[in-house]
Amino acid sequence: MAKVGASGRYGVRYGRILRAKVNDIEKKQKSKQLCPQCHNKSVKRVSYGIWQCKKCNLKFSGKAYEV
Ligand SMILES: [Zn+2]
Repeated sequence: MAKVGASGRYGVRYGRILRAKVNDIEKKQKSKQLCPQCHNKSVKRVSYGIWQCKKCNLKFSGKAYEV
């Protein structure tokens, strides 16, 4: 079976451009975000729209894909 990648689940009908965008978003999701409180790059997405900083333990909600 060929590896489709993380964007495979979004289906093919969205087209190649959107899929490239989705890949970009997923890349962002995996990279750590800057914490608005302690300004460390230790913020990870814990669930949909919920972010948590590993340094100061700040938990906050944000946009689904970005802080
Ligand atoms: Zn923090």
